[in-house]
Amino acid sequence: MLTVSSRVQQTKPSYIRNILKVTQQVDMLSLAGGLPDAELFPLDILAQAAAELERSPGIFQYGATEGLAELRQWLLGDKHLSDDVLITTGSQQALDLIARSYLNPRDKVLCEAPSYLGALQVFDLAEAEVHTVMAELDGPNLAQLEQQLAKHKIKLFYAVPDFQNPSGHCWSLSKRKAVASLLAKYKVALIEDAPYRQLRYQGEPLPTVSELSSYAAFYLGSFSKIATPGMRVGYVKANQALLAPLKKVKQASDLHSALPMQMMLLATVRHPLFAEHLTKLTNAYRARRDYLAALLKQQLKGELTFEVPEGGMFIWARLTRHNAILLAEAALQQKVAIVPGDEFWPSNHTADYQAIRLNFTALIEPQLEQAVIRLKKAIQSCSPN
Ligand code: PMP
Repeated sequence: MLTVSSRVQQTKPSYIRNILKVTQQVDMLSLAGGLPDAELFPLDILAQAAAELERSPGIFQYGATEGLAELRQWLLGDKHLSDDVLITTGSQQALDLIARSYLNPRDKVLCEAPSYLGALQVFDLAEAEVHTVMAELDGPNLAQLEQQLAKHKIKLFYAVPDFQNPSGHCWSLSKRKAVASLLAKYKVALIEDAPYRQLRYQGEPLPTVSELSSYAAFYLGSFSKIATPGMRVGYVKANQALLAPLKKVKQASDLHSALPMQMMLLATVRHPLFAEHLTKLTNAYRARRDYLAALLKQQLKGELTFEVPEGGMFIWARLTRHNAILLAEAALQQKVAIVPGDEFWPSNHTADYQAIRLNFTALIEPQLEQAVIRLKKAIQSCSPN
């Protein structure tokens, strides 16, 4: 019998990917995924972008591992074309390439708790030792961060400073500066994962932590939330010395990301109507966020508490009386899917069993209303702690 590697055996499958099958049932309403609304994809712009492909047959040929030069130049802006950016197959691949390039088994990674579970999966597969720092509303707890950096020989710090998945939190400017200087002090590299950065519904954008950093930093960007996730185009920016090993791993992994998708994406983001698309998208998501927040306050008063996030895709709520895992099961019986919060803690850590993550971007208002009615029924059917 062919034995599966211990690395893969010890890695949990993603709860969210697993329940995707359940949530695709026609009568199920899902607050569980991190999906954008397909109805809001910029299809007219994409169609024009696709039509341009036939004028460049070379785009269907093999290409360079670092990605399409024109897209890389667009990402670098005024700077000369350089090796400071690598196009990846979604930003998820950038995470995997960094882990495989830099982590030996038992190397130490620090991340916020809770944290993006796709990143936790990558660190598990790399057999890293994962440590955590408490995520607060305005960023990581700084005293705990310094304590962890001083105590463990941390190699990489992974964070989602803009509208984190799952908590929706956005770091304040002062915490961005403080984290950047602590990482420099302890010589710890940063992975700043920013797929939600452009989904801001209020307030002004803050500088990225990478911009403030004077030590090694990887900045991961994605087009999944603002264009379409199915095209699988993301990127990682860092200085070329840091990116060189990633390129080698990518060569071995998939040679390069699909060129037609990179070209279509470039034509899409350069299209004169793309800015209008972004405004329409953020207006729709802002309205849904407000609608879901109001419904939760009216319908589930006393059952949960939450802060309204300034952007992103999720409301992170704490149940006052119920266990989240039991509630998620009861919710499926009522045909509504939610994610219990413990999924967002690394294995072997004490998780929060009363938190739930609710997505507000994939459903329209009447569906959100139905979903909350069903969630209320699930809460009523489920005995409290
Ligand atoms: N990072 C975070 C925090 C995410 O939430 C996601 C997607 N849910 C990703 C990375 C992966 O995104 P992509 O589609 O660019 O691979």
